[in-house]
Amino acid sequence: MAKCPRCDVPFSEVSLVSMPAISGAGSASRLFPGIAFCCPNVECQAVLGFQIDHEVVMAETVKSVQKVIVSENADLPNAIASDIVNQLNQP
Ligand SMILES: [Zn+2]
Repeated sequence: MAKCPRCDVPFSEVSLVSMPAISGAGSASRLFPGIAFCCPNVECQAVLGFQIDHEVVMAETVKSVQKVIVSENADLPNAIASDIVNQLNQP
C-alpha cells in the first residue's frame, strides 16, 4: 500500500482536485486546466502529483474548431454544418 511522504498515512486511493496550472508571467501568462493528485488524509492533502486535464483541453479544442467551422461555413445548409459538428463530437 502507498504511504504519503508527508504525513506517513497509508492510502489506497488519492483525492483528485481540479486546479489550474499557470505558464509564464504577467500579460504573457496562460492558465491550463489541471488535476492535482492529493493525499486523501483531510488534515494533510499534500500534492503527490499533477497533470494537465486532457479531457478539458480536448473539449475546449473541439469547441474552438466547431466555432471556426460554423463561422466559416455560414453559407452551408444547416443540415450539413450540423452533421460536421456532430462528427466532431463523436469520441
Ligand atoms: Zn498525507
